[in-house]
Amino acid sequence: MSEATVIKPDLQFVNEIIKGGGESLKKCYQCATCSVVCNVTPEGNPFPRKEMVLAQWGQKDKLIASADVWLCHQCSDCTAYCPRGAKPGEVLNAIRKQSIKEVAMVPFFAKIATDPKWIWLLFAIPMVLFYMIMPYKSIDAVPLNNEGKMAYHFFMPVFPHIDVTFMLTALFAAVSAFVGITRLWSGMKKNAAGAQGTGSPFSHIVPAFTQIFAHKKFTDCNVSKLRKWGHLLLFYAFAGLFVVTVWAVGYLYGHEFFHIPAFGPFHFGEAPYPNSDPVKWLALASSVAFAAGALIILLNRLGNAAKAGMGSYFDWVFLTIVIGVGATGMGSWALRLAEMKIGYIVYYFHLVLVWSLFAYAPYSKFAHVFYRTTAMVFARYTGREVKAPNAGSVTEAGVQPAAQ
Ligand code: SF4
Ligand code: SF4
Repeated sequence: MSEATVIKPDLQFVNEIIKGGGESLKKCYQCATCSVVCNVTPEGNPFPRKEMVLAQWGQKDKLIASADVWLCHQCSDCTAYCPRGAKPGEVLNAIRKQSIKEVAMVPFFAKIATDPKWIWLLFAIPMVLFYMIMPYKSIDAVPLNNEGKMAYHFFMPVFPHIDVTFMLTALFAAVSAFVGITRLWSGMKKNAAGAQGTGSPFSHIVPAFTQIFAHKKFTDCNVSKLRKWGHLLLFYAFAGLFVVTVWAVGYLYGHEFFHIPAFGPFHFGEAPYPNSDPVKWLALASSVAFAAGALIILLNRLGNAAKAGMGSYFDWVFLTIVIGVGATGMGSWALRLAEMKIGYIVYYFHLVLVWSLFAYAPYSKFAHVFYRTTAMVFARYTGREVKAPNAGSVTEAGVQPAAQ
């Protein structure tokens, strides 16, 4: 006689999912339409149907370190086609939020980055930090430069104020991400016990990155087609701004320590740089891509709300920070050109938002950069990657059944 399996549901976990944007979870009646229409899932043991039942049953251990939960690209095809309005795309997003909390190095940061109750503290921390370190507490007291013009580096000196603050923040974010990635990886290994790895996990990093750089998985999504372009623009804008930061550090310390003089269009040691410097052009191009990407994602989210859901606080606080970084960055630049002192205040908020973006990166929606990449490497490593070409799928013409 076969033995009965006793399932112990974690009701607190179920409630957390429901509170975190997965309130439609209980509507699911396991028809599996979502797994058929998902163009991103692997064919064998596909998501998100099984995640819906595991979430209903409160199977926390199986979900918080599940590679499949992170392989979902939140394209919302499943949500649009679910006959019960159970919004599986939103439920998976709520599970990912719990996963971030579970693997967090500093749970307090995960708490304030994911719970609307703590939004005031989320921003109060960097606001107090930058207020404490700013040399002048009144914008009228900030001196002008030799040409009698506004200069943000008098308002907030690059060294040590900005450099030390952001280097420590980047170090904290990098260590947090590393801890989160290693915890997620060992959880995924435990969950996939029995799955055989192919070669070394490191050999799968470059192919996964190639896929990410081209945003191939987003191409398979149908309901939110525009989302790929918004996401792609934001992705390359972040890459461009990262290069700009490294470039500016090179200008500053290349001149300071190695006495490299300004030559041609490259202005070592001179800040602010003239508009003819290529670093300015890259900064401008990245900022425009940043603003355009954020706007596309915002409009796509609002335009598809009826079919794909409005998203949760978790999505919106991140999108607000991203849009805020772009708006205050361009605003402070324009106000400095116009010699309007209110630019100092806008620049202060720009620093607050940039700090929030990086410090909370492994604890907020931004964490998908680390954890989805980890899941994609894991999927390749364990051979859980490719959907067969004849599998059921959804196209703009509707649901296509699996070939016989
Ligand atoms: S399509 Fe909806 S009801 Fe059907 S299994 Fe998926 S989530 Fe459940
Ligand atoms: S949101 Fe998109 S990727 Fe995620 S399960 Fe649904 S259809 Fe698949």
